[in-house]
Amino acid sequence: MTKQLLEDLALANHILVNEGVLDGFGHISARHPHNPERFFIARSMAPALVEVADMVEVDLDGNVHDAQGRRTYVERFIHSAIYKARPDVMSVIHSHSPAVIPFGVTGARLRPICHMSGFLGAVTPVYEIRHSAGESSDLLISNQALGESLAAVLGQSTVALMRGHGSVTVASSIKQAVFRGIYTENNARLQSEASRFGEITFLTEAEAKATSDMNDMHLDRPWEMWKRNALKKGA
Ligand code: MN
Repeated sequence: MTKQLLEDLALANHILVNEGVLDGFGHISARHPHNPERFFIARSMAPALVEVADMVEVDLDGNVHDAQGRRTYVERFIHSAIYKARPDVMSVIHSHSPAVIPFGVTGARLRPICHMSGFLGAVTPVYEIRHSAGESSDLLISNQALGESLAAVLGQSTVALMRGHGSVTVASSIKQAVFRGIYTENNARLQSEASRFGEITFLTEAEAKATSDMNDMHLDRPWEMWKRNALKKGA
């Protein structure tokens, strides 16, 4: 079970790079299947290069437990604090994907514009790090207290934007996280385009829930395609 999870986690890194959600930065993690107080994430490295052997274990306070003494990302506290606050969350993505950024720095709220992004629900909160770290921070979630303030803003949502930085996406599995990461970026791009034409008719909250439930039954279909495409390109 753990072996399969680590293989999927390594592959998810490659898929998210190939689909434009991660680049040289950003990360995806998965909660340990046998120890809910731990999660797996790659050591500090570019996602495109991640392999199964690169995974380290981290606890829910952000302490790394690795026999080889390897380090992981400074922003591991995004993951540790969210897993601590949200027992339902089994996978977390932190991304700087570009189309999302404008929604974190303006009054425009990211909302579900099509049926593939119903998981966004009614509210996509925006995290303002200045409320916790003042006006001269490097914007990174570099300790557990900042992670907790981000997790509090995320609340029960699936996606939170981070002002001037990126976003965090949570899910109940790696495949669902990958789906959501890809379609969060896609929704942001479509919403930006549609906003140029006029007022947007967004999904209602009930439509968002119904479409999200439907898509959750078909997570394997795009995963197999994204997998093939990532492996083909060597991403
Ligand atoms: Mn970041």
